[in-house]
Amino acid sequence: MEFEINGRTINILGVEYKIAVKELTHNNLNMGHIDDMTATIALNVRLPKSQMQAVLWHEVVHGVLDAIGESEMSKNEDFVEKLSRALNTVADLKLEGGE
Ligand SMILES: [Zn+2]
Repeated sequence: MEFEINGRTINILGVEYKIAVKELTHNNLNMGHIDDMTATIALNVRLPKSQMQAVLWHEVVHGVLDAIGESEMSKNEDFVEKLSRALNTVADLKLEGGE
């Protein structure tokens, strides 16, 4: 999966974030990290494939909350983690027949 998503972009409320799968050594950033200043979502290359999508969702939730001005909610890691896990379970939702 790291090769499929590395370098791709994801649009969060009009801002194109670049996904970078790479080595993350800082203790606090060891799974993933979103940087609003550089519009980058970094994911740890050492993450198992099964976890990478969950971590991506986690960082996207941070990005969405920050983008809509809910920075206090974004600082609540427990909330962010619960919401991102929930979104990850419905991420495959596709509606037939509509564009
Ligand atoms: Zn977080």
